[in-house]
Amino acid sequence: MGPPGAGKGTQAKFIAEKFSIPHISTGDIFRENLKKETAIGLEAKSYMDRGEYVPDDVTNRIVADRLTWPDAANGFLLDGYPRTLDQVKFLDETLKSQNHQLDRVIELVADINTLVSRLLNRAKEQNRADDTKEVITKRLEVYLAETAPIIETYKDKNLVVQVDALGDIDVITRRIFTALLS
Ligand code: AMP
Repeated sequence: MGPPGAGKGTQAKFIAEKFSIPHISTGDIFRENLKKETAIGLEAKSYMDRGEYVPDDVTNRIVADRLTWPDAANGFLLDGYPRTLDQVKFLDETLKSQNHQLDRVIELVADINTLVSRLLNRAKEQNRADDTKEVITKRLEVYLAETAPIIETYKDKNLVVQVDALGDIDVITRRIFTALLS
């Protein structure tokens, strides 16, 4: 978990590789659906373009489906999910019904102002439609309002590992591995 631009996607790939588990990114799933012009992709587009969250029922459904794939039977890494209280509750119930549980929640901690310039740079490099200044600001606002508070529910369960997300990519990866393996 962590604000947009904290490097969730980048670090998630390294973690998934290290632990040989699938990297499940709801943002990636929405972008793939958008590219293929599926109904889910077209529905998600209007929210993504505005920097808002895709409705919980749509997001929960795609995650529930993805978790039934055979590659997720022995573990998985969720990237960018859950982001709302409804999603936290849904994930809890889904995992319980599958006799699974979360081992850790990694929180990438970063200063919001630094992230705005990071995201603007990424917009130039990757040509992402949701990386204009207005949309970036909206995404950060939505994060602070909806997602930052739910990290507390995982802190209460002693699941959260906080990692400083500013610095070189490989240094941050090492921080995460050290925190996960300690
Ligand atoms: P990301 O690449 O994780 O930043 O996600 C890009 C966009 O996809 C977000 O700004 C949302 O519009 C949408 N999205 C991704 N994950 C979720 C989620 N868990 N809940 C709602 N919307 C999501």
